[in-house]
Amino acid sequence: MNANNIPEIFGSMVFNDKVMKERLPQPVYQDVKNAMDNGTPLTHESAKTVAVAMKEWAIEKGATHYTHWFQPMTGITAEKHDSFIEPLGNSEVIMKFSEKSLVKGESDASSFPSGGLRATFEARGYTAWDPTSYAFVKDGSLYIPTAFCSYGGEALDKKTPLLRSLETFNKEALRILKLFGKTNVKKVMPTCGTEQEYFLIDKSVYEKRLDLIHCGRTLFGARPSKGQELEDHYYGAIKSRVSAFMKELDLELWKLGVYAKTKHNEVAPAQHELAPVFTSINIASDQNQLTMELMKSVANKHGLVCLLHEKPFASVNGSGKHDNWSISTDTNENLLDPGATPSENAQFLLFLIAVISAVDKHQDLLRISVASAANDHRLGADEAPPAIISIYLGEELEDILSSIESGAQYNAKKKVQLKIGVSVLPPIPKDSTDRNRTSPFAFTGNKFEFRMVGSSFNVACPNFIINTIVADELKEFADILENAVDFNASLNELIKTKIKEHKRILFSGNNYSEEWEKEAKKRGLLNLKSTVDALPLYTQKKNIELFERHNVLSENEIHSRMEILLENYSNIVHIEALTAIDIARKHIIPSIISYQTFLLKEIKLKQNYSSKLSGRLEQNLVSTISDLADKFYEALEKLDADEKKYSKTWDSLKKAKFCKDSLLKGMQTIREYADQMELLIGKEFITFPTYEDILYSVKY
Ligand code: ADP
Ligand code: MG
Repeated sequence: MNANNIPEIFGSMVFNDKVMKERLPQPVYQDVKNAMDNGTPLTHESAKTVAVAMKEWAIEKGATHYTHWFQPMTGITAEKHDSFIEPLGNSEVIMKFSEKSLVKGESDASSFPSGGLRATFEARGYTAWDPTSYAFVKDGSLYIPTAFCSYGGEALDKKTPLLRSLETFNKEALRILKLFGKTNVKKVMPTCGTEQEYFLIDKSVYEKRLDLIHCGRTLFGARPSKGQELEDHYYGAIKSRVSAFMKELDLELWKLGVYAKTKHNEVAPAQHELAPVFTSINIASDQNQLTMELMKSVANKHGLVCLLHEKPFASVNGSGKHDNWSISTDTNENLLDPGATPSENAQFLLFLIAVISAVDKHQDLLRISVASAANDHRLGADEAPPAIISIYLGEELEDILSSIESGAQYNAKKKVQLKIGVSVLPPIPKDSTDRNRTSPFAFTGNKFEFRMVGSSFNVACPNFIINTIVADELKEFADILENAVDFNASLNELIKTKIKEHKRILFSGNNYSEEWEKEAKKRGLLNLKSTVDALPLYTQKKNIELFERHNVLSENEIHSRMEILLENYSNIVHIEALTAIDIARKHIIPSIISYQTFLLKEIKLKQNYSSKLSGRLEQNLVSTISDLADKFYEALEKLDADEKKYSKTWDSLKKAKFCKDSLLKGMQTIREYADQMELLIGKEFITFPTYEDILYSVKY
């Protein structure tokens, strides 16, 4: 590849703005722009023209098929391909793609989770074109980004609530900007940049680990003698196989218009990161889904496997996905960027306070937005933020807020009294160097970074929640300020009150420390340690009212989502338990027995040979292993018995609790004994790759 060609290659497989401008008649192009920018529906005539242009372009790019590409609640994307061929009746075909096929798809949705939203007699699901995200060609198919809903119009996917949240966010943010005289702004859109962490391992070791194949994580495995202690992997030189993978990945992403920008080695051995340049949130979210898919398929071509699980290995760091979130206007203003003048700062502070209040009021929803069986292993494991939500602002910004709250002087030397919206507010320092990596929700200069999101998550989920909770604050602020007699005085009062009410959520210290857990409890902050603790709060009255107020989710949709997430949790833990039992019986027990047999034979041989040979080493080993093996077996029998109770529980919450309290605990116990034995048993007696083999499987 010649680097000079990259600008040409970039986006070459995307039906983007440039292509549309070139290929669509001006009025049709304008129609599509209106649909993208203002959500006005396309006319039938325009949609017809777009379908034809799209088909012709896609065929030129090698496409023979098209697919509606959607994001069901399973967490991965779904696609069903139809070819463009249409029989002419004389054994000939033409390539056809109609307006109808572009705009709406119908599929049998009965095998996608609906959480009770869809009655079995009505199995149809509908996919609807989302013109705000560009179509693209991949593997010989034209991919059309779509939303997925039931016959009754209820959301069955992750994209629909995101799109709905953007509408309410735009509306409320525009009301606020109008108050600051910014009537030229027509559109406000949250932006997002996702820092994607992942592991790369050799395919040969992957194929020998049933736990990685079924669960995406190891259920057994003793610590390697070298883990991440030396921190020599972080930002280390990239091995040539990994580098070749990264190069191909970048190229494929660029073709699809993904702004892949930064790549480096992460803290754990075999762990890496990719970050794109941020973009508008709906596109960023679709592009992150594409990135994850391509990571897997490109890895495969290189004889590698990409693991996106949040905690594939115990004893080294897990993988997250930092969700960088900010707000942009169509006039290119970042609303979370502190301005140069006091009045700009007043506007900045108002948006900042909206985020602070939103996060404090809805800690439960943010925790729910990152809840999964996999992420539970990572959150609070001293490598990722704890399950307690708090915000890091940086010292200076925190000082400024507390001076505003108390009305005290901010800077003793300059003797400035802080007041919002009048000329005395000092310029706010732009501190983009965030020194606190332990914070779950950190302000990093001109954006917030939500760090609890798991590596395999669809960011649409945390982001529709952030958009909605912030929109709700903006709505409250606008309701107050639009009726204010004295705008500046009301603004000042509002900001003061909000700081007082919500400052408990601000924390700049070490989030990994035990003191913080105690302090957070004193402050009354939630500490929802597991998914099972968090999910039932989804259907609280305040949450139903919130989502209904903004038309983001209906009460039914919220209930269905909670059901799906609970079921998903239980299914995952159950599959893990079955896999652990299988591995224990089919691999670990035979290993223990053959090693012990070997030792016992050795003892016998020695005794036969000479009474002077003590055989102490073998005898000690046998008895240590034998003790552990007995305990291991007892725990395994218990897990097996518990597993049989799984299908007897019907209530989804009870089932999830049972999974957490019995199955997960049981798996943990057998693992502890198995891992201890693994360290004692000779390598040739172990039938699957160890942590050492896996974490260092990519050698050059
Ligand atoms: P790090 O967190 O590793 O220090 P950065 O903070 O520089 O890295 O950037 C991380 C991500 O934040 C990148 O994907 C970047 O594009 C994104 N980002 C930067 N500015 C914004 C913004 N205004 N809105 C959303 N994301 C942003
Ligand atoms: Mg970051």
